[in-house]
Amino acid sequence: MSTTSAPDREAARRPLGVLAALPQELGDLLGAMRAESGVRTVTHGQRDYYVGTVQGTPCVVTLARVGKVAAAATVSALIHVFDVEAVVFAGVAGGVGKDVRIGDIVIADTLMQHDLDASPLFPRFEVPLLGISRFTADSTLSAQLNAACERFVAEEGSALATRFATLGPRVHRGLIVSGDQFVASAAAVQALRDALPDALAVEMEGAAIAQVCFEYGVPCAIVRTISDTADAHAPASFATFLVEIAGAYSTGILTRFFHARA
Ligand code: SAH
Repeated sequence: MSTTSAPDREAARRPLGVLAALPQELGDLLGAMRAESGVRTVTHGQRDYYVGTVQGTPCVVTLARVGKVAAAATVSALIHVFDVEAVVFAGVAGGVGKDVRIGDIVIADTLMQHDLDASPLFPRFEVPLLGISRFTADSTLSAQLNAACERFVAEEGSALATRFATLGPRVHRGLIVSGDQFVASAAAVQALRDALPDALAVEMEGAAIAQVCFEYGVPCAIVRTISDTADAHAPASFATFLVEIAGAYSTGILTRFFHARA
């Protein structure tokens, strides 16, 4: 057995993969990385991967863009090209749970693809030949995200609520559902509630990331801020929230998440 010196071990430390769909969802993470370590950009499969450190944690940060295929391809590259030890996704989502309001935060305990249906060959929602419909987020990473979110809400929640005229944000944990649709009607969000009564939020990437991470044995965690309630107001609410508010949440949550790991 060979022994490694401390610098060798440091160099061998596998990075954390951090991704979002859209640039606003990263907050100032890339700025923080640039200021701390500088950023090396690697282009692969028409995406830029930003390599550096955040509060001492080696990271590869990237944008998946929108939808399950985009997310699956991106997280696959994070695993195979960059050898990430774990994956964290931060972004926005539509609220589905009756108690989930715009400005709240949802951390996934489990994720599923609400638009996957190979019935009657396989049960609705089940990934054919894998035999799974609900993927589980990593409990340790999710607990770290949860703690970061609770601190963020305690320290900045009332200021955010005043600034953006929202109600005080709350943190929820539970089921996030993903599909290749922007859900934007009362009928569509009600259909989701009827089919999956415990769904808290709907988005377009999380369950694809969770499936790929499951298949490769890589821990993952997903945090979503609620930008809209997936009804007829969703397009306008999403657009405003994304531009004006999403970055403040991602910065606030990710700064505290990395601080706790440092
Ligand atoms: N490029 C476009 C489209 C974004 S689609 C734009 O910038 O305007 C919406 C994104 O936000 C997806 O990444 C999805 O994960 C999330 N999202 C927010 N609200 C959603 C909703 N009601 N239904 C589905 N996805 C939602």
